[in-house]
Amino acid sequence: MKNSIVRYLAHRLMRREERKRARMENTFVHEQTAHGPIRISCTAWRTHNPINAWLVCGAQKALLLDTGLSVPGLAGYVRSLTGLPLMVVNSHGHFDHTGCNPQFDTVWIHPQDAPLLFQDLFGNALAAPGCEVKVLQGGDSIDLGGTVLDVYEVPGHTPGSIVLHNAADGYLLSGDAIARRIFYTPGRIWTPFSHYFDALERVRALDFTAIYSAHDDMALPKDLIDRLMQALETHLESCENVWAMPGVNDYYLIELNGGPENPAYINISVCKDRRNEAVADIRAWRAAHAQH
Ligand SMILES: [Zn+2]
Repeated sequence: MKNSIVRYLAHRLMRREERKRARMENTFVHEQTAHGPIRISCTAWRTHNPINAWLVCGAQKALLLDTGLSVPGLAGYVRSLTGLPLMVVNSHGHFDHTGCNPQFDTVWIHPQDAPLLFQDLFGNALAAPGCEVKVLQGGDSIDLGGTVLDVYEVPGHTPGSIVLHNAADGYLLSGDAIARRIFYTPGRIWTPFSHYFDALERVRALDFTAIYSAHDDMALPKDLIDRLMQALETHLESCENVWAMPGVNDYYLIELNGGPENPAYINISVCKDRRNEAVADIRAWRAAHAQH
């Protein structure tokens, strides 16, 4: 009798631990950053490359940039942080930034990336996006009431990648367009490097001191933009490090300054069969800019 009670209690305890672990697997966390935006992440988003969404609250409205991988509960978690009317924006159309879109009524995205909500990188049709899709583009300003975010286009990682600039608080929300890891054009749509460099040059001229990307947990310094451009100009042509992504493409991988634990780490991958074109394009861009 005594043994069966012990067994029963042990079983109850085990079940409780299991339930706790299951809850833990999908626990959301948030962190208020020095410049104001709130970093939201989730235990299910902490893969080898951590995923973040960003929440900015003004006096009248709030904005959520990106919705991560598909997991239940993001909308409820955001609602627990703010009761303000919410505008949801995707920095670009990749699945690790759009996964929880169906939990919201409307999602805004650049028109060049909107098709990625309806088909994957290989052109295969996806289920309906599960929300109304509206478009925004470079030159748009989003006024949250005392807090303004300006939209800039930074094509490269995808053709419709955008960044949001808060001039008053001096930061950039950069998605995957400006980050320590740049995956240049996964999928089929190639953006000439001159377009990417033009966009980086335009953004570099803005006033800000911190960059918050979708896959970096820390604020990145503004000179990251120069270091990315320099890394491509210096190392792409001679890079021999090939990263194979079966079924997609092979990539030249420029990896500098150790690993992700180093804040200065840089990791840029560029389609292998586009290297010559990329190098020529970057060289022509630099020559044109050196003249001015
Ligand atoms: Zn992406």
